[in-house]
Amino acid sequence: MPSEPALRIIMRRLREIMGEEGEGQEKLDHIVHLIAGVMVTDVCSLYLKRQDGSLELFATEGLNAAAVHNTRLKRGEGLVGRAAELNLTINEPDAPKHPAFSFRPETGEEVYHSLLAVPIHRSGQVLGVLVVQNRTMKEYSDEDVEVLQATAVVVAENLVSGAVAGTGAALELSKSLSAVVLGQPISEGIALGHIVIHEPRIVVTKLMAEDPAHEMTRLDAALATLRVSLDELMDHEHMQGAGEHRDVLDTYRMFAHDRGWERRLHEAVQGGLTADAAVERVQNGTRSRMLRHGDAFWRERQRDLDDLSDRLLRILAGRPSGLTHAAMSELPPDTILVARTMGPAELLDYDRTKLRGLVVEDGSSQSHVAIVAKALGIAAIGQAVGVVERVTAGDAAIIDAVAGEVHVRPSPELVNAYSDKVRFRARRQKQFEALRDLPAVTKDGQRISLNINAGLLVDMPHLEESGADGVGLFRTELQFMLSDTLPRTERQMQTYRAVLDEAKGRPVVFRTLDIGGDKVLPYLRQAKEENPAIGWRAVRMSLDRPGFFRMQVRALLKAAAGRELALMVPMVTVAEEIDDVRALINKELRFLKRHKHKLPSKLKIGAMIEVPGILYELDRLLPKVEFVSVGSNDLLQFLFAADRGNGLVGSRYDSLSIGPLRALKALTKSCRRHKVTYTLCGEMAGSPIEAMALIGLGFRTLSMAPASVGPVKAMIRSLDARKAMLRLDELLKTGGGNLRRDLERFARAEKVEI
Ligand code: PEP
Ligand code: MG
Repeated sequence: MPSEPALRIIMRRLREIMGEEGEGQEKLDHIVHLIAGVMVTDVCSLYLKRQDGSLELFATEGLNAAAVHNTRLKRGEGLVGRAAELNLTINEPDAPKHPAFSFRPETGEEVYHSLLAVPIHRSGQVLGVLVVQNRTMKEYSDEDVEVLQATAVVVAENLVSGAVAGTGAALELSKSLSAVVLGQPISEGIALGHIVIHEPRIVVTKLMAEDPAHEMTRLDAALATLRVSLDELMDHEHMQGAGEHRDVLDTYRMFAHDRGWERRLHEAVQGGLTADAAVERVQNGTRSRMLRHGDAFWRERQRDLDDLSDRLLRILAGRPSGLTHAAMSELPPDTILVARTMGPAELLDYDRTKLRGLVVEDGSSQSHVAIVAKALGIAAIGQAVGVVERVTAGDAAIIDAVAGEVHVRPSPELVNAYSDKVRFRARRQKQFEALRDLPAVTKDGQRISLNINAGLLVDMPHLEESGADGVGLFRTELQFMLSDTLPRTERQMQTYRAVLDEAKGRPVVFRTLDIGGDKVLPYLRQAKEENPAIGWRAVRMSLDRPGFFRMQVRALLKAAAGRELALMVPMVTVAEEIDDVRALINKELRFLKRHKHKLPSKLKIGAMIEVPGILYELDRLLPKVEFVSVGSNDLLQFLFAADRGNGLVGSRYDSLSIGPLRALKALTKSCRRHKVTYTLCGEMAGSPIEAMALIGLGFRTLSMAPASVGPVKAMIRSLDARKAMLRLDELLKTGGGNLRRDLERFARAEKVEI
């Protein structure tokens, strides 16, 4: 129970903390630690108000550390929000029972009952809230309230000192603290550097033209400059050579030459606008038209057009690149670009030798800017919501585009840890390169076939670089998704032929179109679906639209002429689907024969195992196919009924659990009985411990992202496959639900490099 001395202790320690050298975050951490200790509470947390009125958890003792800077309460939300909104102390013996209580699972606060929330305010403005919580149900004493209120006064005075009290003060404060912004890796890597904020917009101030003829001349001159500058940009040394990034850039360049765009710009100037206002008007008009489509393809197109319009505006304003020349030459040598959104060509404006990483608020791994970032080899994170607001130019930052985290203003310890990580990765990479030409053989002599997953021609060089045996999964839909119009048979054929040429005789498994659902093609009308992952997709669509499917099959058969061809069918749900697919393929074979085309030397047809139902009719499926490949990404999401793209449930269930492992074991047994080749090509295969478990289940062929080949091969060369199989058999009989720990223990005991 705190008493007079408690207050005195806190005040003395607070003064010391405030006087100490160090970062703002450290001080906040000390404060909550101090209060929890002296007041004997299970939790002490400090929330500060953001510009939008929300409250952000800035420091905590007792709640989950990961919630810091991630938990935000909307204005007035929950008891803490009410305390801020009403500038009121709230003392609740059983907070979870209170109707205003807002449960935030990421904080782990469900076990606490009593809650005391005191606003931190100055001159009548609420800056934040100090909260203590205990497991027991109790009303806090008057002394408790007094101690916390007095602390809040000191916090307000000291932490926001100098600033006129208000919400901006807290925001300014937040900008001096460490923070983690979460996102999605869109180009893998780790980078340390300093932030440069990308500001593409030019604000158009003059709308109406005084001299329309002059505006027309300005517009035409700017368009000409734009086109020339794009040609130069696209011949960028890092963008040479074929590959999907080329297609992206060529499409972009076509936009700049689009007659319709030029005509609309002219019409707007003829209507009396300045050239600058015309660009903006046309951009807005097109945006509303494109966004009406609401799908990923049009969003990408819109991004291209925004990029182009911004570029044109900058030319008109006499500032051709996103930064002034002076600023461009002053780019830090370790630039980390932060942007709300970015087009592919904008990224190329920056000096590659100075670029370390990119963070954007939108963008997925298939966005155009991601494809260019990958081609440039820089680490990039997308979906980093709110990042622009949380950083200041020049801030130090770390991009972890493996975990999907941006650490802003990191502590020296974190910088050290990541520097070690970067060095470690470089060293590991060297070791993996050394393994490149060594076989993937276990200690007891089992040869494991390692293959890569690919989807674009640009991925093919990875085959050579990784020393893999072949391509275990070629996702053909990517070419379709990047194209404006349906790629005709001839174009498809050229791509497939180039893929086979690049494979130089190594096997390639082409997966037939896995589109539909959320992989939308702009030229294909599709109704919106409630549950796209289990909707009209993959083989279901291929069978309903046989024309589409036959076109692809024809292209594949022609591309393989005289060579072996392996076709894999996604999302097979019942065995009869393979009969239907075969019937369509046979039609194409007959057609090509009739027209005297050279046929593949051998044709293998396989099914992807991604739908749980098919596991129970393997006796009917296996006699119909030459091979099967487990798509563990989909199979796990359907086995666990947990959306693979939803972070809230995505990590809830472990792939190394007894349920899916038993299912896979049964599959390997059936396949051996039917003498059908089996493999696994989902993300599972690329993680060394999971690959170890798969070998223990009987898999001898795996397919994974090219970067995983090295780590998985290192694991294989340190593994005794027979021992792994025995251990897996035991665990599947007697183990607990989640076998990850047991498998880690096995790997440690056996010195397996996981
Ligand atoms: C899978 O589902 O595991 C798979 C390999 O296919 P995709 O990730 O393309 O759905
Ligand atoms: Mg799949």
